[in-house]
Amino acid sequence: MTPRCYDCVLIGGGPAGAAAAIALRWAGAKVLVVEESQFDTARRGEMLPPSVMSLIERLGAAEDFAAGQHWPVWGVVSEWGPEGASVRDFITSPYGSGWHLDRVSFDRMLARVAARWGSEVQLGVPMEKIRRDGREWVLQSGSTLARTPFVVDASGRRGWLLRRMGVRARNEGNLIGLAATWPDATADHWTRIRAVEGGWWYTAMLPGGQRLAAFFTDVGGCNLQGAGWSDVWRSMAHSCPVAAPQEMAPRIAAAHTMWREQVEGEAWMAIGDAALARDPLSASGIRWALESGLRVPEVLLHGESAKYGAWVESERREHLDLRRNYYALACSA
Ligand SMILES: Cc1cc2nc3c(=O)[nH]c(=O)nc-3n(C[C@H](O)[C@H](O)[C@H](O)COP(=O)(O)OP(=O)(O)OC[C@H]3O[C@@H](n4cnc5c(N)ncnc54)[C@H](O)[C@@H]3O)c2cc1C
Repeated sequence: MTPRCYDCVLIGGGPAGAAAAIALRWAGAKVLVVEESQFDTARRGEMLPPSVMSLIERLGAAEDFAAGQHWPVWGVVSEWGPEGASVRDFITSPYGSGWHLDRVSFDRMLARVAARWGSEVQLGVPMEKIRRDGREWVLQSGSTLARTPFVVDASGRRGWLLRRMGVRARNEGNLIGLAATWPDATADHWTRIRAVEGGWWYTAMLPGGQRLAAFFTDVGGCNLQGAGWSDVWRSMAHSCPVAAPQEMAPRIAAAHTMWREQVEGEAWMAIGDAALARDPLSASGIRWALESGLRVPEVLLHGESAKYGAWVESERREHLDLRRNYYALACSA
């Protein structure tokens, strides 16, 4: 097999990988994106606050986004802390509303835009092997052999490359989310969050008449007494901000805040969740994925890796401060 040569190989074609591919193509780089899924299985239905639209515009994807079936969200109703219920109405935003994503079509759309700008995007192929050969990397995905001087880990929380390189992950807390969806014909355009004993709730409508509700709890501090996740759901369902069915088999997702001790090095960098996975309470993971992806050309083409590392560190500190303040507020209620 003769290797094909690229200026950069991106491992993972989620929001971070796709944003990086688009930005690199604008800078004239030859790019390969390797994505193990076909974006054909259900993904989370994240909320995008209105400000993320400025990034989608920067990526040249506003029209493609507008053609999607995302559900408009008018703001956030929160019952959090001693002040009781409050409303953050997005009406004051220049972008009008936020969105509850059809995440499968969102990821597909970004990958399509990346391909339109000239990136080679492989779907349904996991990155399998990587090795150093002199000053280059040699990577294997399916039947493709690639050579490149620079690799980007955009593989999400998994941190495929970082793990192989032995870069350690650090956690704050042990948050997990128990999520379930059910049909709901209500035209509810609000995201609702509520702090309760032992955790907090998030609920919103998804495109296609489904309601998503997720109960987040820190399993480090939770005594499950042998209860299964369905039992936890059943015992908490009454505290959801909307009437939630009690008999559900929730999906479990790791939702702890996680970061890596190193996010850049000679000939590599990590972006998106691979570098810093944020608390879902902040609803800022996708913004972060797109922003960090847009910074890849600075590092690859202008050698600004130390500047990137410092930026990730300041984002991490700011996020942790904000997170601690929010949870302290919930506890003081
Ligand atoms: C419960 C929960 C709720 C959340 N809610 C919100 C929200 O409301 N708003 C918000 O903005 N954010 C939210 N987030 C965060 C958001 O989901 C992530 O921050 C975002 O998806 C990160 O994008 P990414 O591209 O870095 O990683 P991912 O979206 O995880 O993409 C990584 C990609 O890499 C691929 N991949 C992995 N390994 C390989 C491999 N070896 N080879 C090839 N491909 C590979 C995967 O298939 C995947 O497509 C939430 C997170 C959780 C856990």
